[in-house]
Amino acid sequence: MSTETMVQQFPLFINGQWTPVSSGETFDVINPATSEVVAKVAKASTQEVELAVQNARSTFDSGVWSQKTAAERAQVLIQFSNKIVEHAQEIIYLEAISSGGTIRKLAGADIQQLVLSLQQTAALALNYQYVETLPVFDALGASRNQIVREPLGVVAAITPWNFPLVLAMWKIAPALAMGNSIIVKPASNTPLGTLKLAEIAIEAGLPPGVFNVITGPGSTVGDSLVTHKEVDKVAFTGSTEVGRSIMKQASGTVKKVTLELGGKAPAIVLPDADLELAIPGILFGVFFHSGQVCESGTRLIVHDSIYEEVVEKLAAMTATIKVGNPLDLATGMGPVVSKQQMETILSYIESGIEEGARLVCGGKRATGPEVDNGYFIEPTIFAGVTNDMKIAREEIFGPVLSVIRYSTEEEAIAIANDTIYGLSGGIWSRDVVKANKIATKIKAGTIWINDWHMFRNDAPFGGYKQSGVGRELGKNVLDEYTEVKHVHTALTSENSQRPALGLLF
Ligand code: NAP
Ligand code: MG
Repeated sequence: MSTETMVQQFPLFINGQWTPVSSGETFDVINPATSEVVAKVAKASTQEVELAVQNARSTFDSGVWSQKTAAERAQVLIQFSNKIVEHAQEIIYLEAISSGGTIRKLAGADIQQLVLSLQQTAALALNYQYVETLPVFDALGASRNQIVREPLGVVAAITPWNFPLVLAMWKIAPALAMGNSIIVKPASNTPLGTLKLAEIAIEAGLPPGVFNVITGPGSTVGDSLVTHKEVDKVAFTGSTEVGRSIMKQASGTVKKVTLELGGKAPAIVLPDADLELAIPGILFGVFFHSGQVCESGTRLIVHDSIYEEVVEKLAAMTATIKVGNPLDLATGMGPVVSKQQMETILSYIESGIEEGARLVCGGKRATGPEVDNGYFIEPTIFAGVTNDMKIAREEIFGPVLSVIRYSTEEEAIAIANDTIYGLSGGIWSRDVVKANKIATKIKAGTIWINDWHMFRNDAPFGGYKQSGVGRELGKNVLDEYTEVKHVHTALTSENSQRPALGLLF
């Protein structure tokens, strides 16, 4: 692997300009595939949060974006998507060297998702009902009653490191489409692509100050955004722990919040499952992006009658996954995001062994010339897992599958729902009628039947239970980025035609 990566410097991006921090402080961004420092990024303080919020606020109030027509805004969103295509190579590279995502994932899925997200949100915004006139309601006297949708104002997005750009775009696209200003606080492991995106947006014709990026620790920069009285909404994706804290902190100013949090998704394998489909599908569901996906199918609940066969076949196919340099097109699984994350995952693996689960494959940091310097973990499968073990209860966010045994369908559903999470779930079966019936009983925001990781922009994504609040994507996502106002206009100049006056006079 190349050892001559240039260390790039990244200031903040505020009001359409690269903006240094007054302290001059920076933090390192590390390539998890090599453990080399690849960039130094400005470490903002509350002073810069203030600057970003004031700029976003005055830009919003100026109307330069918020008062544009839906069509004018949609045009900029489309231009933004074109510019992303133009800059795709650089974006992919910045994402790869900071997040460890493979070129195959970034070029094959993420870039397309960014482009589609902008294009389809622009289309939704053009067809959005900004004003709805209600039918006449006699009891109010002659009047016109309208429901009007307005932008919220200043949105703060706090984003994680697993899909840094895609999860940022799920917030940026609807926020911009509805006329808001946005400040994105990316995860400190992976701020590079988001900073670049803000620069590209200017090139696409977005007015300065509409889309700002501020980098620095979540505990200070993130928290200042969440508690700032001029921030109208927080859109967050990350851990349930930080999500709880954000919800609490946001209550001080009664902010709107949407939260996309953790998961521990159950995948139920019925005795009649087509294993030709299920085995690769299950492995894709759990090992894609080294398991660093909140909706990964991490608890595999397999029927007694096929349990050993499934475990054996999973292990055999896992052996064919190429773990290695994410910049190599042959690589299926790259590193995990950081040394810290690697250590967390390894300690979960330890706990699985200690609690008596049977290690079927993997279980260690990967070794070899291509991976020795990075944070790579072998794809790991545990059999003999019970749902009370730590590896079945807590989100590991790494390439670790827990295989649990069941004998009755009721038992499988009970195990599936025995979790604080409810982001996703799935069923593998040839009987799709039965699978759909089970789908109604799983408490989760997305269900995949004989599939996994399938998203579309017009289908909502979000969690039941402690997996979140609100939804991203979907037909109604634009509602989440607007305020709603009822305007009543009296259409009479006669007091005799205002029945309510009789209540007083
Ligand atoms: P995290 O702490 O929840 O970080 C997510 C984002 O929140 C980052 O931008 C982070 O900034 C920021 N943040 C941290 N503390 C904050 C605070 N007190 N107030 C406001 N913002 C704050 O996630 P993590 O520590 O990187 O990962 C821990 C675990 O979270 C993972 O192991 C996984 O279980 C889960 N996770 C879930 C998702 C998901 O998609 N649902 C994504 C990533 C991680 P900094 O980066 O500067 O800390
Ligand atoms: Mg954290």
